[in-house]
Amino acid sequence: MLDQDHKVSRAIVDFAKENKISVIRLEQLANIRQTTRTSRKNEKNLYTWSFYRLSQFIEYKAKLEGIKVEYVNPAYTSQTCPKCSEKNKAQDRKYKCKCGFEKHRDIIGAMNIRYAPVVDDKSQSA
Ligand SMILES: [Zn+2]
Repeated sequence: MLDQDHKVSRAIVDFAKENKISVIRLEQLANIRQTTRTSRKNEKNLYTWSFYRLSQFIEYKAKLEGIKVEYVNPAYTSQTCPKCSEKNKAQDRKYKCKCGFEKHRDIIGAMNIRYAPVVDDKSQSA
């Protein structure tokens, strides 16, 4: 598990470096802690906790590369469809988009963070 976090964080930072992305977006840590506490019985507890630790790895590795880590409101990242970038409101915990994309709300948030880091103005269209 720990090893995987290192690999994933490395991949994210390398991706940012190769694509000259200067800022990586992560969900606010405070909110992740809260989610971990309130969903103890839920199996996604493991996922949220692992994501908290993962974000710390990302921050550490990014800093070494001179890449900034920015914390964003999870409510916002969870609204954007990873497939078509349309913004939708999640109904309870389930996220459903017009384009047919359907997944758990928190997974959407993590996907958006992983695959859509903030880009410089110049290369915003990417
Ligand atoms: Zn969509």
